[in-house]
Amino acid sequence: MSDMTVSTDWTPGEVPPADENSAAYWDATRAHRLTVQSCTACGAVQHPPRALCTGCGSMEHLTQVDAAGTGTVDTFTVVHRAPRPELNAPYTVARVRLAEGPVVLTRLEPAEPGETGWRIGDPVAVAWADLPDGRALPYYTAPTPDPSGTTSKEH
Ligand SMILES: [Zn+2]
Repeated sequence: MSDMTVSTDWTPGEVPPADENSAAYWDATRAHRLTVQSCTACGAVQHPPRALCTGCGSMEHLTQVDAAGTGTVDTFTVVHRAPRPELNAPYTVARVRLAEGPVVLTRLEPAEPGETGWRIGDPVAVAWADLPDGRALPYYTAPTPDPSGTTSKEH
C-alpha cells in the first residue's frame, strides 16, 4: 500500500480534484454514499479507486459499489499541535478498516470522546463533511446507538 501516505496535515481544504479513476467515487459522495471499488472478475475490493485491480490486474472489471459505511479503528493519532494555525487542535487522524476490507486514512470525531478516548478496535460509522464544491469528505464517528435496543439486522 505505497499510496497510503500518512499525513497529519489532513483538512477538507486540501481534497484533491476527482480524476478519471476517482470520479465515480466522488460523485457518490455528493449523495453521502460511501463506495469502494470492486472487481467483478476476481472479487477484490480496493480503495482508493485505481485504474488496475490489485487482485488480478484487470482494467475492465472495476466498478464502484456501495460500502456498508462501518468499520473499526485500526490505528490513530491525536494531534495536539496543529501544523497550521487554521486547524483546530486537537484532532484525531486514524486508519479505519472498512467492513469491506480496505483501510482508509481519515479523521475520527470527536477528537477525544468520553473519558477513555478512542481505542484500537472501536467500531465506527461514516459521517460526512460537505465540501464547497458539492462533494463530501467521509470521516468516522462512534456508531449511533439504536434507540429501540434492537439491531437493524433483526426484523
Ligand atoms: Zn480483479
